[in-house]
Amino acid sequence: MAMRLHNTMSGRVEEFKPIEVGHVRMYTCGPTVHDYAHIGNFRTFLFEDLLRRILLQQGYRVTQVMNLTDVEDRIIKKAAEHGQTIDEFTEKYIEAFFEDLDTLRIERAEHYPRATEHIFEMVSLIDLLNEKGHTYVTDGSTYFRIATFPRYGELAHLDHAGLKAGARVDVDDYGKDDPRDFVLWKARKPGEQSWETPLGIGRPGWHIECSAMSMKYLGESFDIHTGGVDNIFPHHENEIAQSEAATGKPFVRYWMHAQHLQDAVGEKMSKRLKNFTTLRDLVAEGYQPRAIRYALLTGAHYRSPVAFSPELLRAADNAIKRLDEFAVRLGPMPPHPDPPPQGGREIEGTPPTDVRKRWDDALRDDLNLPAAVGHLFEFIKTFNTRLESGKATLDERAAAMAMLRHANRILDVVEFPEVVDAEVERLIAERQAARDRRDFARADEIRQQLLRMGIQLDDTKDGTRWKRLPPPSPSRRGGGN
Ligand code: AMP
Ligand code: ZN
Repeated sequence: MAMRLHNTMSGRVEEFKPIEVGHVRMYTCGPTVHDYAHIGNFRTFLFEDLLRRILLQQGYRVTQVMNLTDVEDRIIKKAAEHGQTIDEFTEKYIEAFFEDLDTLRIERAEHYPRATEHIFEMVSLIDLLNEKGHTYVTDGSTYFRIATFPRYGELAHLDHAGLKAGARVDVDDYGKDDPRDFVLWKARKPGEQSWETPLGIGRPGWHIECSAMSMKYLGESFDIHTGGVDNIFPHHENEIAQSEAATGKPFVRYWMHAQHLQDAVGEKMSKRLKNFTTLRDLVAEGYQPRAIRYALLTGAHYRSPVAFSPELLRAADNAIKRLDEFAVRLGPMPPHPDPPPQGGREIEGTPPTDVRKRWDDALRDDLNLPAAVGHLFEFIKTFNTRLESGKATLDERAAAMAMLRHANRILDVVEFPEVVDAEVERLIAERQAARDRRDFARADEIRQQLLRMGIQLDDTKDGTRWKRLPPPSPSRRGGGN
């Protein structure tokens, strides 16, 4: 089954085909580093982690870019209040952001460009828009003239009448010819940090950074652009207008957006409404980071809103406990990151025999993690019964463990039991006893079992020695398509 993704542009789930075979280039709108990110932000960043991990597991190479918005009204205001430069002020929150990513086990993107380090690229892009007649200047600020880009509104599915009605007029932007027009370059106001450029002294508007940085690192046309649904309009709509007006090429093939994390009464969690919780608050309250990760990832499909509550965290805690227990019941196994790429081994006589396929198919179907997790738990329930009846063979246990590791490559919440030295010593003694009574079949079985646990034996004249084998390298990543 091919990978299918929901594209906000078409409003449909479409088959996914990257521009370059086997390589996905994607851009994810990052945090505005004026404060700690809240767990609503992290719902979106976790959706992007999910997408990234699934693409990797499908065999794609991924180049992901996430910007850090480090110049914008609130940052400038707060930095000035603290008597700091933008860099001095944002440093602490950038550091905190990366710490939070690690706490939530969010895989790192390939690039984290900062807006303040790409002023030149933004100015060049605005210059190109000037040359092509898409801009005008009022009081030293440069605006994008929406009327020059007829496709404006296609992503948000707004007609032009609706656009006018829905447009938010930025209080900063008195000089616009049309309320829909947006600012590319803002003239300096007294006391504000600014840059001296051919466009005049000032600073970039917010939207231009994502066009400039995505195209710098990913090319003028790339595969996937993501964000939360609040980014669709006007931010992503404006990105399309700026980028396509400048290059004359299609900007992005698939637009994907995560629905919001809400508070207990169904309001979007946001800084503005002050109804937000940070990761740090939750950890200080004693919640385990992996339960928070699990809750935000699996609480609902990424395209459905989800309300954040203590019950959601408790359910996540219970689910993780069941996964940990299952790993313990299966016993120590070799550190095997993935079953063989093609299908894996089926678990005979243990329905559902096709859990791996169900898991993969659900994820390929627009990242349906809640469904995939449903299949996983159904399997665990059935296999636990088999374990209790004593019928599960060693091979079946190994296959079940491979499945759990496969799922955990996405979930990243399970704690696997380590092979402890005492267990190894016990098995070596048992093997010796088997050899002493000339039961070589049993002795060999134990050697094989230890090998599967990643332990190699060496029979010397001074007795049996053992060593841990290095974990096998992950399965070769071919070009998935
Ligand atoms: P910001 O730091 O405000 O620029 O937001 C960073 C990311 O978090 C953006 O992709 C937003 O769409 C996303 N976001 C903001 N609030 C929420 C929320 N309550 N739930 C999910 N995503 C959100
Ligand atoms: Zn952006």
